Order: sequence, then structure tokens, then C-alpha cells
Amino acid sequence: MMGNVEGDITLRPRRLEEYVGQKRLKEKLQIYLQAAKNREEPLDHMLLFGPPGLGKTTLAHVIANELGVNIRVTSGPAIEKPGDLAAIVTNSLEEGDILFIDEIHRLSTAAEEHLYPAMEDFKIDIVIGQGPAARTLRLDLPRFTLIGATTRPGLISGPLRSRFGIIEHLEFYTEDELALGVQRDARLVELEIEPEAALEIGHRSRGTMRIAKRLFRRVRDFAEVAREPRISTARAREALDALGLDALGLERRDRVILQTLIERFAGGPVGLDTLATALSEDPQTLEEVHEPYLIQLGLLKRTPRGRQATERAYEHLGYPLPEQPRL
Ligand code: ADP
Repeated sequence: MMGNVEGDITLRPRRLEEYVGQKRLKEKLQIYLQAAKNREEPLDHMLLFGPPGLGKTTLAHVIANELGVNIRVTSGPAIEKPGDLAAIVTNSLEEGDILFIDEIHRLSTAAEEHLYPAMEDFKIDIVIGQGPAARTLRLDLPRFTLIGATTRPGLISGPLRSRFGIIEHLEFYTEDELALGVQRDARLVELEIEPEAALEIGHRSRGTMRIAKRLFRRVRDFAEVAREPRISTARAREALDALGLDALGLERRDRVILQTLIERFAGGPVGLDTLATALSEDPQTLEEVHEPYLIQLGLLKRTPRGRQATERAYEHLGYPLPEQPRL
């Protein structure tokens, strides 16, 4: 099928060997998976952290597939009341299954406390009835594996963190790895792409697989409309330029963040909330979505007194360097 592949489930890697990059993590996982299989026990609970789009959800699905078990997907904000959690774990989990909780740092305290006995002893308390007649019933659960994902490891409480046997973080991808991901998608939709063109997409994807795949879809649009059977490097560049991505892969929004920091706050330091207000942006989005890569590129620093633009940011955006020596 040609058509639009946006969100096409078949493009998701299903096996660990198809999952690009994250070598260090994959090597360890192979061992954990093998050990769990040999012992015929569920995998230990696992906490994954890393910025959005690096492949946490995908990895949870790959693990379920490798283990041959089912996966139930939910998220911290979706579990509001303790009863919500009980409904999920009592209704649908079988021995060895995976419960994936995205944004687990957003669980309410009540829901989190409810999760502890479920994780530790595979038991959950449910309340039956209301008012004075209410009573608590402790139910046995099948032994399952919880995989929690978070972009904010600092917001995970100590007691929750300590109940995970495996704690791992995902890394930004190299350009080569992103290019591999792009080439794989190209193969799956039966399109040829010059290796250089795939690298160019990787170069501008901010280390993030989700972005590489999204950019590939846009480049593909350009190539198909131009009736180009093979995506050339020139075509890829043209499309990426048209999308407003600069040589470092920054989008307009990223540049506006740095420009605001430099023009309105003399490069900082300025507090996250103040900067977010100036940008009409939600502080959490700023911190979780935009900042990690700006920091990774050395364009922005988080200091105890707030956010600060680096010399590299001034250079990249073509501003004269400030008089005060910078970081
Ligand atoms: P996260 O949960 O960390 O926000 P996702 O798991 O949703 O990220 O991944 C975003 C997209 O990138 C998905 O389309 C997924 O198929 C793809 N992807 C992520 N990591 C990889 C990888 N290592 N190899 C191939 N594709 C990946």
C-alpha cells in the first residue's frame, strides 16, 4: 500500500534486532529477556526514561513481542482514581503480561500507593460498597511486568523508583542510526533513498527517531509529487529546507526560544517560568520537548539561576557575542 504511512503500525520495529541503536541497553535487555525466559518468570519491573520520541513505547512493545506476551498500554494521567488501576490490572492481565504506563511521573499519589502492593506482591486492594458498609478486598493478580516510561526521572518518587528492578535511560541517536531508521522505513514502503539523503534527514532530526521518521514522510511527499523514483540528496535538502529546518535540525520554534532568550533576557540566566511566559509556552513542554536537544547541542544551559544561551547559540543564530564572557 502506498498512501500516507503516518502512524502506520507496520513500520514499528517488532523485534529487538530491528530496533535501531540503543546498543548498550539492547545488550543488557537480551540477557534479562533470556534469563526471564529460562526461569519461566515474568521480567522484572522496568523503568525507562528519556526525552519524547526516543522509542520508549516502541521498546515496551518489542519486549512484549520478544517474550510472546500481551501488552496493555495506559498512562499516568489516565489513572486518576485507584479504581482505574484496579480495573486495568484485574480485567486484562495474564501471567507474564506487560502493563505499560507512559508518563508514569504523572500518577496521582493515591494511584501510586495502590501500585506498590501490585508491583511487590501482585496484590491489589479494591473497595466494595460505599460509606460505612464499604469494605476492602485484597485480590491476587497474575504476576505481570510493569514497564513505566518517563521524560522526567526527577519526578519519580523514591518509593516508586525503588520498586523497579531495572532502570534504564534511552540515548539520543547518532546520525547514522537515524539514517538506518529512515532507510528501514524507505524499504518498508518500497522506496529507494540515496544513503546521503537518509543521512541528511538523520542530521536534521535532533537525535530523535520520531522526528527522523516524520521528516522522512515529508521528504517522501516531495519526492512522490516530483515523480522521483529514488529520493536524491538534493530532493531531501529541498524538502527539509522547505520545512524550515536549519543545518542543526532546529525548527523555527527552537530558534524562537533561543532568540527570545537572547533578545529579551540578554541571554539569561532567566527562570523557566518567565521564559515560558514570554514564549506563550507551557513550561513543561519547554522543558521536556525543546530543551533537552538544545542542551545536548550546547546551545542552552540550565544553571541554578535559570536558562542561559551559550556562545554557540549566539553564533548559530548570527548574533554578535555579548560583551560579558559566556559559558
Ligand atoms: P517515546 O515512547 O519514547 O516517546 P516512541 O516509542 O513512540 O517514543 O517512538 C517514536 C517513533 O519512532 C515510533 O514511530 C517508533 O516506531 C520509532 N522508533 C523509536 N525508536 C526506534 C528504534 N530504535 N528503531 C526504529 N524505530 C524507532
